[in-house]
Amino acid sequence: MTTIDNFNFDNKKALIRVDFNVPLDENFKVTDTTRIEAAKPTILKILEDGGSAILMSHLGRPKNQESEFSLQHICSTVSEIIGVEVKFVANCVGEEAETAAKELEMGQILLLENLRYHDEEKKGDEAFAKALSQLGDIYVNDAFGTAHRAHASTTVVAQFFPGAKCYGQLLAKEIESLDRVLNNSEKPVLAILGGSKVSSKITVIENILDKVDEIIIGGGMAFTFIKAQGGNIGDSICEDDKMELALEILKQADSKGVKIHLPVDIVAANVFANDAETQTSDIKNIPDNWQGLDAGPASRTNFDTVVQRCKTILWNGPLGVFEMDSFAQGTIALGNSIAQATENGTFSLVGGGDSVAAVKQFGFAQKVSYVSTGGGAMLEMLEGKTLPGIGAIER
Ligand code: AMP
Repeated sequence: MTTIDNFNFDNKKALIRVDFNVPLDENFKVTDTTRIEAAKPTILKILEDGGSAILMSHLGRPKNQESEFSLQHICSTVSEIIGVEVKFVANCVGEEAETAAKELEMGQILLLENLRYHDEEKKGDEAFAKALSQLGDIYVNDAFGTAHRAHASTTVVAQFFPGAKCYGQLLAKEIESLDRVLNNSEKPVLAILGGSKVSSKITVIENILDKVDEIIIGGGMAFTFIKAQGGNIGDSICEDDKMELALEILKQADSKGVKIHLPVDIVAANVFANDAETQTSDIKNIPDNWQGLDAGPASRTNFDTVVQRCKTILWNGPLGVFEMDSFAQGTIALGNSIAQATENGTFSLVGGGDSVAAVKQFGFAQKVSYVSTGGGAMLEMLEGKTLPGIGAIER
């Protein structure tokens, strides 16, 4: 794997694709700086080598270059976090950008305007990618969150840097961590899949069946499996058209010797609301008009036993509707179990938008081995795909 450590950036201009797609409040102040902090090690290594850094990113989904999506809003925050004043140029290509890049001195940082002000970015336009490539000497991709997109700045641009392209530290760490789970894992390996829908994670389940020893299926996904097995799930979320597939997965798992664990009990609610009436119910016997919104106490205990015996854990998706306090306990209990296993030497990787939100919200982020920054990108890697942004560096 070619990373920034394989290069000396002395006297070089690094063109770095970062993921600064950060949330802003109504005064355009950054409300969560995680992504900027995550890019810091890569930027500092380049500056310390004696090089300069040209940062490119997208922000939001602009349609007509609306000023609310300008990366200028975040410039001072980036300066504060990196500890070096960041210059800004109001376009990412063209004369203005070229002049700013040319005038950039070693040790300095330049932030380019939002890549998605140009439709060519998402289209993966080659001429646009070439224009970007003219700004720097070495291309560094440090944006895992967009590595599954074949956009100009994440993928196409790499072809213009033969022998001069690499992963930033963050992206390299993401790849290493996933590799540690999928290919170089200490056994037993456990995957925990939750969230609302089976359909969004089918390919993941199929791909990891060959790589894991045990799978916990929780959250809304579980009900499709339970109903397919003949259970009465009341009003719980279910994808009827995926029931056959669910049975097929159980059969495949059985033939491959992979143990599948489903919840045995759940917290049922009479309505989908935090102040709903609740009762604990056998998952196969949920009363009519009630819906399962969280893992029940017996399920939590069962899952804890599984978690404690495994040496490698991958967690994607919550065990219940954790956004509501009343249905967050199953997800919190699982987080606690994983934190304890991690303390005892298990390697734990958490990824996927909602699980990351959950581990942050409940304070587990420091207690697991690695928190992945890319939801969609991570799912695609778990599906066994080579991400375009990763393939482009390898070519
Ligand atoms: P996903 O985006 O597929 O990972 O799903 C995450 C969402 O699943 C979260 O917003 C949870 O609230 C939701 N979820 C988890 N368990 C359930 C459940 N039992 N019923 C409905 N939604 C659920």
